[in-house]
Formats: sequence, structure tokens, C-alpha cells
Amino acid sequence: MPQPELPEPAHAEVDSMLSRKFGREVANYFAGSPLNRLSFLRTDHPFLSAALKHPSTSFLLFNNMSPLAKDPTQLEYVKLEDVKPLIGEDPYSKSEKQIIEEYNSTITIPQLLFLGLDESKISGFEHDIYHGAPYFAIDVTPKGTIKLKAEKLIEIIKSRGLQFVEGRMHMSLPAPQAAIYAQARALLDWNARNPFCAGCGQPTLSINAGTKRTCPPTDMASITEKGAIDSTIVGEPAKDRPDCVTRKGISNLSFPRTDPTVIMAVLSADSERVLLGRQKRWPPLWYSTLAGFVEPAESVEEAVRREVWEESGVKLGRVVIHSTQPWPYPANLMIGAIGQCIPGGEEIHLKHDPELDDAKWVSMAEVKEALEVGTSGLGEDAGPDYKEGGLRLPPRTAIANRLLTAVTGGFLEEHSHAPKM
Ligand SMILES: [Zn+2]
Repeated sequence: MPQPELPEPAHAEVDSMLSRKFGREVANYFAGSPLNRLSFLRTDHPFLSAALKHPSTSFLLFNNMSPLAKDPTQLEYVKLEDVKPLIGEDPYSKSEKQIIEEYNSTITIPQLLFLGLDESKISGFEHDIYHGAPYFAIDVTPKGTIKLKAEKLIEIIKSRGLQFVEGRMHMSLPAPQAAIYAQARALLDWNARNPFCAGCGQPTLSINAGTKRTCPPTDMASITEKGAIDSTIVGEPAKDRPDCVTRKGISNLSFPRTDPTVIMAVLSADSERVLLGRQKRWPPLWYSTLAGFVEPAESVEEAVRREVWEESGVKLGRVVIHSTQPWPYPANLMIGAIGQCIPGGEEIHLKHDPELDDAKWVSMAEVKEALEVGTSGLGEDAGPDYKEGGLRLPPRTAIANRLLTAVTGGFLEEHSHAPKM
């Protein structure tokens, strides 16, 4: 499969003191979204309602975290008319306060997300000083009380020749679509994984256009037990739920997670070689940079040094941050770094933490050649110039590739002539 173009860094052509000192910014795949998220408008239901109903609005559907697409290189969006049977006429017709007051734990509400406005599109949608084409995402996975409606919707969508593209890595989308997909997937996944309150174990309710969850103080289910489905008809006050620690203090909300991960290109003390590792489950000849989670109360630089030592025994000195990559599987931010060995710290020892099948030092020339002829998605074929038996590396949509490209391509030279990469 051809590798897509990477996103352009924002304002890449603007000369600045920072770019002269530190070189050009690197924008990695899954970043570079065309959407303005307008996070401060997520509680503004009149705004969300107007955005939802605008003719230019696009809805991206996910079924079991698989996005709707024409094929693996092109997402497909649907219109409000398509999703109304599932989400209703206007899920934002009531205020957030009202929705919390009317919370009913026995009714499944389809998970809806406001993603933002694509300001590059002249769509006619305007709100105050903000304009662009609105984007929403919806989890249409059949479950709970929406199971039948969701199944029907999926059936209709599939009859148009569209598909929910399965698989974990959607690395073949054009960069702007990949960024929209990543935002939607990360948030839908977080909502799906957090149906219960971490403080008290009771069910939670999605608010803030899908970006927060709250533990409502009352539950209409106490009334529906008497036979009424629509609690608003009954007019009885909802029953209090047991007390919860999350309803006290300054914030009664649960926020989405972003878990920092470090991933690093490691140089020998003489800058002549790069450290690569391979995991047991990878095909033969496949290598990449080392990576691992940042632990609580640890700096990024410390995490890089710790992970490299634990996995390979190699001892690092100076560490610099190169670039970062959102990674929606499920909620990571990959912090790409470059680290250099202290003199004499190159000895490889795989026995501390036996996570890697192998780790080895590779010459700059061999890494450079593999970047030119030996990259692809895991298990896919390399390009036509690849020679059997040669080193295999991740595609350029992976930050590991960008880090290796940087260290073999001039990033280490004086920044006054930092290359475009
Ligand atoms: Zn709670």
C-alpha cells in the first residue's frame, strides 16, 4: 500500500528565531488536523445544535472502533438525515444541566462527539466569529437500548457499498483525515471504556460534547421502574443516587486520558551508529527504535534513559526532544526523542527486562539505506528496490521512521543549515 503524504508543520515557511536555532518543526502522522476544535463551545448547546443541523455538517461513524470508509485510503462521512433514526432530531435541544437532571441509567444514549470546524471550507456555517464546516463522530456499535436501531443503521449504510474498515492501524489515510480519525477514535474509545465512575462504581453520563463524563447525582430509573419510560411525562423528581466523592470539590468530571510514551533514536557516543531493537512477534529482519511508557513523577529525559537501559542495557547521557505524535491506540502521545550514549555505555544487555528479542548497533549507512528501500507497515512488502535479507524499518507514518530519518539526515549538524524533513 502506498505511504501517504505527511502533514505540513503549521506556519512552516515563517522565519523565526526558534526555527533558526532549533530547525524546522516536524509534524507527524495523526497530527495536523484541519479542524478548529473550539473546545470552549462544547457546553454551548445552541451552538452544537446549530452545527449539528447545518447542511455542510459531516458525521464520521464508528462500529466497534472501525471507521466508516470507502476503502482503507478514504474515510466516508454521512449526513444528519442518515443518523437521525439513531440520535434523534436534536440531542442538544436541552441544556447540559437539564440532561444531567433527567439522567436515566436504563437508557443507552448514542455516543456523539463534536470534533470541530474545518475552517478551510467555506460552508456557510457561522457562529459568532467562528465559521467552517462542522464535524461530528458517532459510535454506532449496537448495544444496550439502541441495539436494534444501530443494527438497522449499519445495514442501510453497508447497502451503499460502504464498509467499516477493521484493523488497528489506519496508516493509509491522507494526513488530514488521519488526524480527524485519531481524534474521534481516541475519544470514542475513552467513552466506551469508562461507562462507570472511578469514585463510586455507578454508571456515568457523557457531557461536554463527548469530551467529559460526569457521575449524575440522581437517576430517573427509579421512576421508570414503575412503568413509565419517558421520565419527563411522569414529572416526579428523580431518586438520589448514593453519594460520590467525584461530586465534591472543584470538579465533578472525569477527563479523557492521554498517556505519554517515549520513543527514541539512540546514538553511539561517537555518533557513528544507531541502536535498534526488535520485538519477538515481529517478522524476521524487522527492527525499530526503542519505546516505553513515561512513569508517574518522571521527566521525559529520565524515561528515555530508563527505558533504554532496562530494555538494552545501554547507558545514555544527553537526551533531546525531537517531535511528538498522537497515537490513538488507545490514548498515547508518543514523545519522540534522540539520546546519545555516554562514552563506554554501548554494551548491550537484554536480561534486565526481557522485552526485546534482539537489540543491535547499526551503522548510519545501513539505516539510511533501509529508510530508502526497506520501509512499510508491519508485515507488508517493501518497495521494489529492497534486497532480500536487508534491514526492515517502520513506514514514515510512524515517528520511529522520522527519528531515524532525522539522525541519519543532518539533524545533528548545525541548526543554521537544518534540513527540510
Ligand atoms: Zn461516582
